[in-house]
Amino acid sequence: MSQITDEAENPLLDPWDGPFGAPPFDRVRPAHFRPAFDAALAERRAEVRAIADNPEPPTFDNTVAALERSGRRLERIDAAFSLLVGADADAALEEIEREIAPVLARERAAILLDEKLFGRVAALYDARDRLGLDAEALRVLERRHLEFARAGAALPAEKKARLAAISERLASLGAAFGQNVLADERAFALVLEAPDDLAGLPDSFLAEAAAAAAERGRPGERAVTLSRSSIEPFLAFSARRDLREKAWRAFYARGAGGGASDNAAIMRETVELRAERARLLGYASYAHFRLADTMAKTPEAALALLKRVWAPARAKALSDAEALQAIAAAEGGNFALQPWDWRHYAEKRRRARLDFDESALKPYLPLEAMIAAAFDVAHRLFGLSFVERDDVALHHKDARAWVALGRDGAPIALFIGDYFARASKRSGAWMTTLRDQAKLDGRVLPIVVNVTNFAKPPAGEACLLGLDEAQTLFHEFGHALHGMLSDVTYPSLSGTRVAQDFVEFPSQLYEHWLERPETLRRFARHRQTGAPAPAALIERLRAARRFDQGFATVEAVAAALVDLELHLIGEPGAIDVAGFEARELAAIGMPPAIAPRHAVAHFQHVFSGDAYAAGYYSYLWSEALDADAFEAFEQSGDVFDPALAERLERFVYSAGDRREPGEAYRAFRGRDPEPDALLRKRGLAAAQAGRGGDEGGD
Ligand SMILES: [Zn+2]
Repeated sequence: MSQITDEAENPLLDPWDGPFGAPPFDRVRPAHFRPAFDAALAERRAEVRAIADNPEPPTFDNTVAALERSGRRLERIDAAFSLLVGADADAALEEIEREIAPVLARERAAILLDEKLFGRVAALYDARDRLGLDAEALRVLERRHLEFARAGAALPAEKKARLAAISERLASLGAAFGQNVLADERAFALVLEAPDDLAGLPDSFLAEAAAAAAERGRPGERAVTLSRSSIEPFLAFSARRDLREKAWRAFYARGAGGGASDNAAIMRETVELRAERARLLGYASYAHFRLADTMAKTPEAALALLKRVWAPARAKALSDAEALQAIAAAEGGNFALQPWDWRHYAEKRRRARLDFDESALKPYLPLEAMIAAAFDVAHRLFGLSFVERDDVALHHKDARAWVALGRDGAPIALFIGDYFARASKRSGAWMTTLRDQAKLDGRVLPIVVNVTNFAKPPAGEACLLGLDEAQTLFHEFGHALHGMLSDVTYPSLSGTRVAQDFVEFPSQLYEHWLERPETLRRFARHRQTGAPAPAALIERLRAARRFDQGFATVEAVAAALVDLELHLIGEPGAIDVAGFEARELAAIGMPPAIAPRHAVAHFQHVFSGDAYAAGYYSYLWSEALDADAFEAFEQSGDVFDPALAERLERFVYSAGDRREPGEAYRAFRGRDPEPDALLRKRGLAAAQAGRGGDEGGD
């Protein structure tokens, strides 16, 4: 029985009996994944077949709860694989990803298109009012039924087959898209050779550039890479306009270089297949299909929010552009402001107007202190404590693990942080889970991971964060809390498994506590002297958060509008996606010195899988929620107000998808969200009223 021998020799298929049941990463090799996937897929197939073929009439327990119990082993193997391929990929893992992505999509589609299975779920759904289910069980039944319906379970056989083929093809396209972007990022390094190449760059940047060069096999040199944490400070500080242009063009051209890693054909096919899928399911467009199952519910509602924000943001950006152009002119710069200039002159303007040098704050924001600050806020809001563990096998030697303890001192979760950039890690920052919380068969503790791309400091030195990076850390930790505090019965409702325009609410809300004096006075301390950051510096920092919000809002809303409009096309045919993007940007009056935060050719949210396809607006939608929610804390006079924190935990952070998101928000806030809080937060409400002066403080 070779199958049994394989299983016995494969640590992925053995029981995971190390601390907290974490994956045995110390023993796992890439070659273990394919046989483990195959065995776990076979196991789930058998479990699902048994549910569908059950001779007993359908009951909630033998059908819906049984589905919740199925595929657990596949889920945990997939979770371990996804973490590795995202955070420490090599050629072997990427090869497996290309192989397994379409298989997983096909198998999942087969379950959702299984007629006997859908028949049982549909029978229960039709009888749902008579089953005596509690609210959470009713919710999970409704969600399961909707999942089948949206996958096409009610369609005739030939349409089902077409949907399955589309899903499989889209999964392959999504994996290839992400790999192309990563290939372009790996291929580029701007090596700063001549002394003059370093003009304007602060020491902190030079140290990181030296580490980046060493990692790319060029020790003793300094390199700018296409990771955001390298490119953005370079664009802000470098006095060399020619080098800024070179770096920016490479950054902006990721996925659009015309060679083997060009994404144009992938985008074209993806958009066409998504539209076809929507048509098969009876929706006017892919955007209509996607948004039907969100808090916004319709593309019109999402567009209305984006357009409401666009006009004041654009007006603010255009007036800021004039101010930046004037600074350039005063220096003798005889050119029209370009995207590779904006950050540079904005940084000068910030220093002049706010006497605030972003890098002056860096010595006060060591990674270690910012982790402690994120933990402390969780303690003050939700009573959590964190204890570091060194006995958990982790996916990389730089990753760290902490056990999260609840108010009673009992463990509620394992938290893993993997903070440093490396060539084998995808860019950006994200939260993922190795196991989701559930209570269906006894209490399952979640294992939650945060991955970021902070530049690794030279050996023996502290990792110092920019303010944006500290904000990223808090953002991802907000997602992590959504996973760790989860307190639901059914795995499919657990943690961050909520509507796409609600999932960024807990993470974006958490960012607010970073820049509060209550947090910074305690945790922003100088890495060498231990002195707290000067109060005046913190005050300027808070004022600075509203600086350049015209730019930040324009680059984000432009990307969101392109994404939504692209997916509103009912019959895109062989569309030139980059050409569509250019026309859309012209139509909305994109300021010429600003580019979208993500150009389509490397817009991973939208094309590297479909997680945020027709969904990039979600960040802004969630921000409308977080701005409105944090105003509740501010208005209470205590940003850690215990009664509000309790409602926040009960209805949001612990609630998973137990309720419809609009209802959950109302339960927390006592009313619907008011979007004007978003304009106030970004300092755009004042600009709209013609009062200006966004940089002047609160
Ligand atoms: Zn997020």
